[in-house]
Amino acid sequence: MSDRDDGDRNGGDGNDVEAELGRTKASSGGAAAERATPPRTPPLTTPPAAKTKARGRGETGRGDDAVPSPKSPSRRRDAGGGPAAGKPQTNGHADGGRPAAHRAKDRRDGHARPRRRRPVTVDTSRAKTSLEALKLSIAQLRWKEFPLGRRASCDIYWHGVSFHDNDHIVSGQVNKFPGMIEMLRKINLSRALRTMQELFPEEYNFYPRSWILPEEYQQFSAQTRVPKDSGGVANLTFIVKPDGGSQGDGIYLIREPGELRLATGSQAKQVVVQEYVQRPLLIDKLKFDIRLYVLVKSLEPLQIYIAKEGLTRFCTEPYQEPNQKNLSHVFMHLTNYSLNVQSGNFVHSDSQSTGSKRTFSSVLYRLASKGVDIKKVWSDVISLVIKTVIALVPELKVHYQADIPPGKPGPTCFQILGFDILLTKNLKPVLLEVNSNPSMRIEHEQEVAPGVFEYVPSPVDEEVKVCVIRDTLRLMDPGQNRPGHHQPEGSSGGGSGADQGEVITAKAGSPEKVKEEETADGLPSLCLKQVYPKYTKQFHYLCLVDRIATLFLRFLGIKGNMRLGPTAFRTFIRCCRLSNSALPMASVDILYIDITRRWAASTPDSREARMGLQAFVEAFFNLAGRRSKSSLLRDQVSSLLEVCEAHLEGQAGALLTTAAASSSEDRRSLSCSRAMARGSSKTPSSSSSAAANSRLCSPARRATSHDQRLQRSNRHGALRAHVEN
Ligand code: ADP
Repeated sequence: MSDRDDGDRNGGDGNDVEAELGRTKASSGGAAAERATPPRTPPLTTPPAAKTKARGRGETGRGDDAVPSPKSPSRRRDAGGGPAAGKPQTNGHADGGRPAAHRAKDRRDGHARPRRRRPVTVDTSRAKTSLEALKLSIAQLRWKEFPLGRRASCDIYWHGVSFHDNDHIVSGQVNKFPGMIEMLRKINLSRALRTMQELFPEEYNFYPRSWILPEEYQQFSAQTRVPKDSGGVANLTFIVKPDGGSQGDGIYLIREPGELRLATGSQAKQVVVQEYVQRPLLIDKLKFDIRLYVLVKSLEPLQIYIAKEGLTRFCTEPYQEPNQKNLSHVFMHLTNYSLNVQSGNFVHSDSQSTGSKRTFSSVLYRLASKGVDIKKVWSDVISLVIKTVIALVPELKVHYQADIPPGKPGPTCFQILGFDILLTKNLKPVLLEVNSNPSMRIEHEQEVAPGVFEYVPSPVDEEVKVCVIRDTLRLMDPGQNRPGHHQPEGSSGGGSGADQGEVITAKAGSPEKVKEEETADGLPSLCLKQVYPKYTKQFHYLCLVDRIATLFLRFLGIKGNMRLGPTAFRTFIRCCRLSNSALPMASVDILYIDITRRWAASTPDSREARMGLQAFVEAFFNLAGRRSKSSLLRDQVSSLLEVCEAHLEGQAGALLTTAAASSSEDRRSLSCSRAMARGSSKTPSSSSSAAANSRLCSPARRATSHDQRLQRSNRHGALRAHVEN
């Protein structure tokens, strides 16, 4: 994943597909500026023509945050001449502007008129590259935009990059979750999915086998260096992706561990190495991937929506299975728009079903015409999306609580994610990555004369993206929960246990234009379909890590904290009564030190010595394995969760106090140990007085000094088996 836009910048056409997928064809209209990506050196061999083009692009390109200058005809059409033109901005519930006294009299006389809702207000001052599509969406909804921000608070804040684009928001809703960027970095996403693979190998086999290098180099070599005559494995290819990279930057293919290009010393960067999907589904002999937009409407309760329409991005060189000669052919193996647009073969088409970027529905239509069961494909894609979000949620909750602790005024959050999915030859969807900031640009750069590049509208992007933004806004409308508010179609929670096939609406019929269905407010029906909690029943059993995170959060205690100190960890063990003769507290301490130290070492930029959620999950798995006779990790973990939850039930009040106390103890312990460290660096006498202090301290202080010892031994890497019980 990337914390940057992914560079979708192409166009397509207006060929409708008869399908509910196609029904997303809202009256979107409009064009947007795409962030001009600076010219980059493609990671693999790029033909000279492409390089020339890239230079041209660089010369005419604009900065990341540039507001688009070229106005597309469709943008003028919609923003100015659409349904909102010439009308006051309201939410469509007119009240006629009667003075308050008259309205009060009306109410007294029993002539209560429906109150006009004030227009929903949207702060777009930090929207960056999604601005153009956002403006169109707001205009279609007849909401009120504040392009320069607003002194009073707005209902919705649209951030271009991160939750922290504006740290002063205390109410309303922000379109980014804290921590999403971090969670979707390639390494963190791989870790979260691998944890789920450990628990549910079958359910999570949609994510290719991955290793995080350099720390897992040994495992990578051992698992892949199999004698060639043993069959199969020697044929594997791997794709190497730098952590935090995007748009194909720095990606290359290898066939042997020895071909890795790992920098050392200060240049050392972490990478994810992943098994390469060698047999992707091809269309017109070309590899392609699918970009699907997914709305996480809330974390608690978890609500997920999937856009019924997506994009497909095509390679520009016919695909061959990897061999030593073609490994470096970027236009054959990587589907990134930002790379392929530099190829002389890139086709900017006005059609949605031809060219190098097409709608997903046009591809499904084509597959359906060849007899493919596209309902099944859709159903598998939806499963993949729900399972992936379930894997992300636990850590996101930790970030959320740290940034917006319960009781502290703050906004609520939602976020549109970009899922990149590959279909294998056997039509199995494979997750490539999830983008926290999928590009929402609706125009692309085109060479209008040799060496001269301009932004022109991209119908395909506009078709898909404006609907996604507009319908996200509709779902986030703060008036939604008011009595009498019309729920847009598709937004309802829906029954449980529904068959996933029900969601699949792409029909294999003719691609003729279908009449757009409209909702009561004159808008097209929603292009976003709720899939969770709608399908909670099928997926709820996967939420084991989420339950572990709930325990973790209970013991964090202190606001703004994301890591568990040693005392809080002990408190968790004590409250859940996990310590016994087989697991004395000394072993608990050793477990804490051991795991925390390993996790600190695997995150080079972190000097944090306390326990993050992932480390806690590892400790939990370890404890579960010690207690259970089952050979299945998921059973071990479930039964330990039940034990913990049973013990904690009814202790809630006491627990909060304990957690807060142990957390502040952990904090004191840290500041105390810092103070001691400072003191000890000054004079020997001050260090001896600190030692004397620690001898004189209360039980709580003794726990603190115990923590100091733990932390010190942790920092210095010395495992101490004699820590107090
Ligand atoms: P980036 O964030 O740099 O775009 P991705 O993980 O999306 O990185 O990979 C870039 C491209 O490489 C993808 O769009 C896809 O075409 C190809 N790719 C990535 N992972 C795999 C894989 N495991 N198997 C086959 N192709 C892959």
